[in-house]
Amino acid sequence: MAGWRLEHSYARLPRMFHTAVAPTPVRAPRLVVLNRPLAKSLGVEADTLAGADGAAIFAGNRLPPGAAPLAQAYAGHQYGNFTKLGDGRAILLGEQITPAGERFDIQLKGAGPTPFSRRGDGRAALGPMLREYIISEAMHAMGIPTTRSLAVAATGEEVWRQEPLPGAVLTRVAASHIRVGTFEWAAAAGDEATQRALVDYTLRRHYPELAAHENPSHALLHGVIERQAALLAKWMLAGFVHGVMNTDNMALSGETIDYGPCAFMDVYDPATVFSSIDQHGRYAYGNQPVIAQWNLTRLAESLLPLLHLEENHAIAMAEEALQGFADRYEAHWLSGMRRKLGLLTEEPGDAALIKTLLEWMQKSKADFTNTFASLSNEARIEDAWRNDTGFSLWHEQWQARLGSQPHPSAESAELRRANNPAFIPRNHLVEAALAAAQQEDMGVMERLLEVLAAPYNHSRPAPEFRLPALAGDTCYQTFCGT
Ligand code: AMP
Ligand code: MG
Repeated sequence: MAGWRLEHSYARLPRMFHTAVAPTPVRAPRLVVLNRPLAKSLGVEADTLAGADGAAIFAGNRLPPGAAPLAQAYAGHQYGNFTKLGDGRAILLGEQITPAGERFDIQLKGAGPTPFSRRGDGRAALGPMLREYIISEAMHAMGIPTTRSLAVAATGEEVWRQEPLPGAVLTRVAASHIRVGTFEWAAAAGDEATQRALVDYTLRRHYPELAAHENPSHALLHGVIERQAALLAKWMLAGFVHGVMNTDNMALSGETIDYGPCAFMDVYDPATVFSSIDQHGRYAYGNQPVIAQWNLTRLAESLLPLLHLEENHAIAMAEEALQGFADRYEAHWLSGMRRKLGLLTEEPGDAALIKTLLEWMQKSKADFTNTFASLSNEARIEDAWRNDTGFSLWHEQWQARLGSQPHPSAESAELRRANNPAFIPRNHLVEAALAAAQQEDMGVMERLLEVLAAPYNHSRPAPEFRLPALAGDTCYQTFCGT
């Protein structure tokens, strides 16, 4: 049976959290890409799924054995405004239990309309689904918690997004799809018993070590704050811009979720925005930690009645927890930056050393990834920078700081190599792979995926994958019409 072992714990939550709905079959399913290593770790047989069977399953035309498809209900703040949402084009098939005993949601994205589709068609276009596949797998390879991509199947049907585009379905694998918006949904529409059921379920699924806590909601809030602080630091250290950090796109598991208008920054600039609809830069690179805290505040609000019987007391508990976010984020970010600079010890001047480098990078319009990667390999420090007084001064300070460490220099160099990627999914590379894939040439994307699967392989001779786009990417725009 190809190794499917689907369970349905989410479906046992109260009725208000889900609606049974099956994928709508498509005209001509064709498997475009299959993630064999991921299939293996899930315990499903890639060989069986590589043919027509896989195409039928991943396009939503045939259910895998044991599937019980449903759409999840949730709400969310989109660009600051509260809305009732729900899976408008995603259908959960079930939770795969892996050979290692882990539980992962198997979800089809673009599988047809659901009761939550509103005016949407329930479908997705091939380009954005391949884009999610590439970027989520790159994030995973970099060690950033994320949902993953098992397959993309073309539907043989067109979707209309200003123009006709080839349709596709992405099979997404996630620790779960419980969002901050799921809690907002429960708070808006549920009673306390329903909210408690969601808290208990989320704790058991993602924070089992906290499940026996005397105040489960308080424990959950602290747990989520810690994971989001760690996640946001990883995004910032990698130059990742999520692009649409609405509360329905923030997962309680601590995974990066919902790849829409996301992109990696080339030139270092905190104001970097790629999304065409984010006109005020709400979700700009440098704003992300603040927005995460804003989203977590919405989570805390939705938990208030459970935190304490007395409202004032509950608010004080929530505020205390939320105030911890900034400290936890700073701590993760600072230790991550120390690793990027090869610092094995902690000195009070480290924050200033980092700040000086970032200021120089911004002023010189330096490529974020390549600047750090070049610190892993002196040979790559560009001649232009060596002649730059600002950089030379910083470089001297940094070298002196490195020299003061008792550790062998090889240890510091290894730390830098393991924390500064040589390869990221650069916007122009992703676009080239998608353009070729639209022409049914998968070679470009396969080569890109191969390089991105080993982001810290600094000795790979692949200069074309390291270079920023020629004209920079200051004009690069991503579109939400995914
Ligand atoms: P997103 O911006 O992708 O997080 O989506 C926000 C909401 O819009 C979610 O509830 C989606 O399910 C819904 N949505 C996005 N695209 C479509 C579509 N093509 N058809 C129906 N619903 C959609
Ligand atoms: Mg979403």
